[in-house]
Amino acid sequence: MTGGNFPDLGLYVGGEWRGPAGRDTQDVINPATGATIAALPLAGPADLDDALEAARRGFAAWRATAPEERAAVLNRTAALIRERADRIAGIATLEQGKPLAEARGEVMGAAAILEFHAGEAVRQRGRVLPRPPGTRSIVVHQPVGPVAAFCAWNFPVINPVRKLSPALAAGCSVILKPSEETPASAIAVMRCFAEAGLPGDVAQLVFGVPDTVSRTLLASPVTRKLSFTGSVPVGKHLMRLAADTVMRMTMELGGHAPVLVFDDCDLDRTLDILVAHKFRNAGQVCVSPTRFYVQDGIYDRFASGFAERARRINVGDGHAPDTGMGPTANDRRPAAIEAMIEDARSAGATLLAGGGRVDGAGFFFHPTVLGDVPVEADAMNREPFGPLALLRRFSTLEDAIEQANRLPYGLAAYCFTENGRRQVLLGEAIEAGMVAINTVRTSWPDAPFGGIKESGFGSEDGPEGFEAHMITKAIHAV
Ligand code: NAD
Repeated sequence: MTGGNFPDLGLYVGGEWRGPAGRDTQDVINPATGATIAALPLAGPADLDDALEAARRGFAAWRATAPEERAAVLNRTAALIRERADRIAGIATLEQGKPLAEARGEVMGAAAILEFHAGEAVRQRGRVLPRPPGTRSIVVHQPVGPVAAFCAWNFPVINPVRKLSPALAAGCSVILKPSEETPASAIAVMRCFAEAGLPGDVAQLVFGVPDTVSRTLLASPVTRKLSFTGSVPVGKHLMRLAADTVMRMTMELGGHAPVLVFDDCDLDRTLDILVAHKFRNAGQVCVSPTRFYVQDGIYDRFASGFAERARRINVGDGHAPDTGMGPTANDRRPAAIEAMIEDARSAGATLLAGGGRVDGAGFFFHPTVLGDVPVEADAMNREPFGPLALLRRFSTLEDAIEQANRLPYGLAAYCFTENGRRQVLLGEAIEAGMVAINTVRTSWPDAPFGGIKESGFGSEDGPEGFEAHMITKAIHAV
């Protein structure tokens, strides 16, 4: 795919697409070349007011729609997304950079999330409490109301779907602001919803100046829930804004996932899956493994095996069939990673692979491995969000757990050990919303995905993600 057949970009408000005429625009960049692909129209004050008004109307209608009909719309959307998987994946690769195969996997994952939530829509639970005859106390769940949702550029298809699916399944309306850097993937998803029969006022798609959009939507009494995927500082800022109206919130913030590798692990298998997982999406994943704590007895073999595999990764344009890792998604990432590498090396870390940008156009960076990284290094304390692996030794189980838990993040954690007793202890002791043992997979449509501590609260996916879009009401009648 080239810039020539990139889809038209626009806002979707009240069931209509709004183009660039009369609006400010922002360039969308191909991270593989640095070239501009298209101009994205940005919402002005009138667009945001219209979106709020549409969401208010849409909520009144959608909450009254039968759950089976809501489920049918979600299932039809999933079918359209599957049908268009190649095209949507091509768009995601063009504007975000990840290899096509990864983008296609993301599209299929998005369809599975929609299908799961279609099932949740018709599985709403309530309770009848034991009371004397002739009286009744019941607990019901109702949709919370219009949702303001904001999401990041790293999963341009799944992030919007994760915001829309549970809200729509629960009977809420939504105003979604995906990243301005990857708008076309979200637009392709919204077209599927529209063609699947989602009534016009129910979901709005806006782009704009992020701070203006979030301030406007969160100050409005129409909005009843905030859902955000992005960095910890922006998450905290939005939480403060939402406090004024005591809004419900779901916060999917950053992570700095520890990986505890014990000397009884299956070393080759562990290395194969960890290296692939580390450099997936050029490391720009909130659950990306970042801090590798490796037991003394296997540290040297682990470090050399990791570096050797990292050097073999073919870095290139995501559309090329032999690309193993694409560019980083924007020009902020190479600069940030370079600074972290320099800081870590000056603190005493050893460079084992990579170490800098790839010469030429685009935002490419070599898969980089640093060994014996001191805990004081900036990269050991702040989320790298790039193709950077940090290795460090440990000796005892207690030491490993202490290292894993030392940061304010608590999203994903990984452990590799064949010792069953140790697996149980690690699962209990590690402070994270998701602990993966001898695997790197932390995301399934039926499992809660989310963090603790400063990584956020209020899971997405699973029944938990659905219930986060409902209020609980007790009704007592005598
Ligand atoms: P950023 O914090 O500036 O932006 C992250 C996202 O939040 C973007 O999509 C942006 O449009 C949006 N955003 C920013 N300010 C906003 C506001 N006031 N209101 C509403 N939305 C707003 O960071 P970035 O440079 O784009 O990404 C780098 C950092 O973001 C990474 O270091 C990582 O910590 C974090 N991140 C986390 C995730 C995740 O899945 N948890 C995803 C992407 C980025």
